[in-house]
Amino acid sequence: MKIPAKTKEYCKKCKRHTEHKLKEFKTRSPRKQSKGTRRHEVHTAGYGGKYQAIATVKKKNKRPTFLAECTVCGTKHYFVIPKRMKKPELVK
Ligand SMILES: [Zn+2]
Repeated sequence: MKIPAKTKEYCKKCKRHTEHKLKEFKTRSPRKQSKGTRRHEVHTAGYGGKYQAIATVKKKNKRPTFLAECTVCGTKHYFVIPKRMKKPELVK
């Protein structure tokens, strides 16, 4: 599905609707020292097995998330389209 790369969104800092540029959002690797990963390591150590349930049915498509950047002040925020799709494509 084709998605326009420029949209008009509400900016919290400017407190009005401004033009935003959309960029592809990539998730970073989890931090080793964070509380969640340390807890996970403690739970899964030894013969404990898995402590979080694994989904039996996996969904094939994902909801696309982008990074929207305000062209006026430059703040960034998430831009999520609440719809599942196979191939999201940014079009200029
Ligand atoms: Zn702004």
